[in-house]
Amino acid sequence: MDRRREIPRTDAVLSDTRLRAAAERLGRGPVKDAIRAAQARARAGELDPEGVADAAVAALPATAGGLRPVLNATGVVLHTNLGRAALSPAAVDAIIAASGNTDVELDLETGRRARRGRTALATLAGAVPAAGGVHVVNNGAAALVLAATALAAGREIIVSRGEMVEIGDGFRLPDLLESTGARLREVGTTNRTSAKDYAAAVGPQTGFILKVHPSNFVVRGFTSAAGIPALTGLGVPVVADIGSGLLAPDPLLPDEPDAASTLRAGAGLVIASGDKLLGGPQAGLLLGDAGLVERLRRHPLARALRVDKLTLAALQATLAGPVTPTWRALRYDPAELRERTVRLASRLPMAEVVASVAVVGGGGAPELELPSWSLSIPPAYAVVLRLADPPIVGRVERGRLLLDLRCVPPSADDLILGAIVAAGDRPCT
Ligand SMILES: *Cc1c(COP(=O)(O)O)cnc(C)c1O
Repeated sequence: MDRRREIPRTDAVLSDTRLRAAAERLGRGPVKDAIRAAQARARAGELDPEGVADAAVAALPATAGGLRPVLNATGVVLHTNLGRAALSPAAVDAIIAASGNTDVELDLETGRRARRGRTALATLAGAVPAAGGVHVVNNGAAALVLAATALAAGREIIVSRGEMVEIGDGFRLPDLLESTGARLREVGTTNRTSAKDYAAAVGPQTGFILKVHPSNFVVRGFTSAAGIPALTGLGVPVVADIGSGLLAPDPLLPDEPDAASTLRAGAGLVIASGDKLLGGPQAGLLLGDAGLVERLRRHPLARALRVDKLTLAALQATLAGPVTPTWRALRYDPAELRERTVRLASRLPMAEVVASVAVVGGGGAPELELPSWSLSIPPAYAVVLRLADPPIVGRVERGRLLLDLRCVPPSADDLILGAIVAAGDRPCT
């Protein structure tokens, strides 16, 4: 007799107490999806009809968020495809605490409306005393769009041909800036631009001079660029997009500009990131001259780029709190990394421990090599580990799968070991 006739109907499976509880937690949609997938497997003969409910339970997502937590074993600290910065526990707690109703825009003492996100803004201002004003928007690109719209729509932005960068996924800063109605006035050449080039372009149409840190590439050889101090006397604001969220100089990252030094050099406005190098939530930080920041803050577009209370809470916790996972990963002691890797390799006959190089990622400090160690296993494991629970993402290099534990919490080492062991000696079959 055809066992496929015995496959239980969705409503019948949904009466399973475990799935009823899951539907309360996750909503009915994801639970029905899991049931339908299990029914399909039963129809294909991969599963006994009695096993449908169990299979659906096993396939349920861990959370209702739709995004799966992943172990980042790539050795790329700020991996764009993996959501860049991993938040600190303090930031996670802050997000949970802010997730209900909060005083985000209410002064509890007076009962009046208050400046949105004032705690995070005050902490940011305190972290960069050279800034007369601060404002926060959704991301770095939003900060650029706001500055271009409020200060240069219908007018010109002067920018060096050496700083017309593509930031990733086909998005280019020149296109982004022109989408605001500002015109780009390109000066200099790809490799050399002088202060005179900028001075010659300044005129009544100038909105501002834009300096962009070429975060994700380096030009070498016969090159020169005008520094900010050489551009501050031209009678127009200098806006500096530093790319990352480095607020003060960091000896580990000598080639990365920071917000405080850039302001002291004379920039009227600095655009920085909430997550790149700062290790917080994705956000665009605008710091600088109080008058300029106020113009941005009062522009109608500011309302469309307004940050959510969850971002503000996480940003505050990141700025005020203990060191972030990003900070830790950038400074991870290679000896400790090697020790953890050797322990895993000692349990895996096909694994080797190899010296490797980790990088900052997220379009930052492209030349910085972080000495690291990796577990090297056959590349056939890449797919099985990506499909493990939780998914483990490494990188394939010279025909091997490398797993760099730098960004993996030590408590997850055994999960990785277990997933490799479970995949067996021949993970493809
Ligand atoms: C990353 C980056 C941006 C965009 O920032 P997002 O937060 O990703 O929107 C803009 N400019 C530079 C120089 C960058 O490196």
